Amino acid sequence: MEPIKTMNINDDEPSHGGSQETEKVRCLIIGSGPAGYTAAIYASRANLNPVLYTGMEMGGQLTTTTEVENYPGYPDGVTGPQMMEDFKKQAERFGTDVRFGIATKVDFSGRPHKVIIDDKKTIEADTVILATGATAKYLGLEAEKKYAGMGVSACATCDGFFYKGKDVAVVGGGDTACEEATYLAGLANKVYMIVRRDVFRASKAMQERVFKTKNIEILWKHQAVDLFGKDGVEGAVLVKNKGEENEEEVRIRIDGFFLAIGHTPNSDIFKVFLDTDDVGYVRTSPGTTKTRVPGVFACGDLQDSHYRQAVTAAGTGCMAAIDAERWLAEQ
Ligand code: NDP
Repeated sequence: MEPIKTMNINDDEPSHGGSQETEKVRCLIIGSGPAGYTAAIYASRANLNPVLYTGMEMGGQLTTTTEVENYPGYPDGVTGPQMMEDFKKQAERFGTDVRFGIATKVDFSGRPHKVIIDDKKTIEADTVILATGATAKYLGLEAEKKYAGMGVSACATCDGFFYKGKDVAVVGGGDTACEEATYLAGLANKVYMIVRRDVFRASKAMQERVFKTKNIEILWKHQAVDLFGKDGVEGAVLVKNKGEENEEEVRIRIDGFFLAIGHTPNSDIFKVFLDTDDVGYVRTSPGTTKTRVPGVFACGDLQDSHYRQAVTAAGTGCMAAIDAERWLAEQ
C-alpha cells in the first residue's frame, strides 16, 4: 500500500525553491544499516508500510568493511556490501519503501512526529525508528583536515586501492584497526599500526591475523601528533612513550594515514528531544528500544555503545519494529 500523501501548501502558490511536500506515514525508519533494514523487514511484515530513508552512507558502516565472518547464516563469510544488499532486498520483498535521503531535522515535540528530509520534505510519522548508526572518529589534528582526501582516510576499503605498493599507517588497536591493517597489507608495501597502549583492544582472532602478516609493523605506545608533506601526506610525526621519562619523537615515511579509533553516534539532530549519554548514544528504556518520546524508538549503534555488532544491531532493529507495532496497537 502506498503511503498517504498530502500537500501542506496551496498548489496554486508559486514554489519558493524546493518542494514543501508533506507525506504521512505510519512508520518511518531512518538509517540503512543492519538495524534499519531489520526494523524494515519486521515492520513491513507487520503491515506498518514502512518508509526507510537510507542516509548518506547507504548500507551503513558495513559497506566500508571487507569480509564479515561472524554473521550467522553465512558459513563461508560474506562481504559487507553484499550482506547489506541482501538485507535491503529482503526489506523490499515485503514492501518497504527504501529511499535515498538524509534526515536533516526532527520535531518530536508533538504528534505526529515530524522529520525533515534533505531540508525540504516533511514526513509526518506515527512512529519513528531511529537507526542512524555511528561515524568514524578522528584524532582532532589540524593536519587531518589539511590532508583530507590527500592521504588521510577513515576507510581502508574505500581508499586502500590508491596506496598499492606504498607505505601507510593505521591508527588504533581495536578490531577495526586490525581489520583495516590486514586489508591494507594486501595492497600496500608496508603498514604501520600506531597503537597508543602496549596491547590491542581487538579480539584474539583479529590480533592473530595482524601478528601473522609480515608487512605489518606495530608501533606500540605511539601516538600520532602531526602529518607532513607538500601536496599530500608524506609522513607522520609520532610521540613514543608519551608522558614518560623516555618519551621521544619518531618520524615515519608514509603516503596514507588511516584512522580506525572508534565511532561517534549520529544523534546530533535528535539530542534536543531525546536523552543521550555523555558520548551521544541515545538512551532507551532497559530491555526495549523505547526512547523518552512515545512513538520514537532507537536501535543499532545509535543506542549501543557496548556490543556494536551487525548481529546485535539487527536484533535491536527487530525489537524496534515490534515495539513500534505494539505501541501503535495500544494507541
Ligand atoms: P574500539 O573502540 O573497539 O577500538 C578503538 C581503538 O582505537 C582502541 O584501540 C583505542 O585505544 C584506540 N583509540 C581511541 N581513541 C584514540 C585516540 N585518540 N588516539 C589513539 N588511539 C585511540 O573501536 P573499533 O572501531 O575497533 O570497534 C568497534 C566495535 O566494532 C567493537 O565492538 C568491535 O569488536 C566491532 N568490530 C568488529 C569487527 C569484526 O568482528 N569483523 C570489525 C570491526 C569492528 P584503547 O584501546 O587504548 O582505548
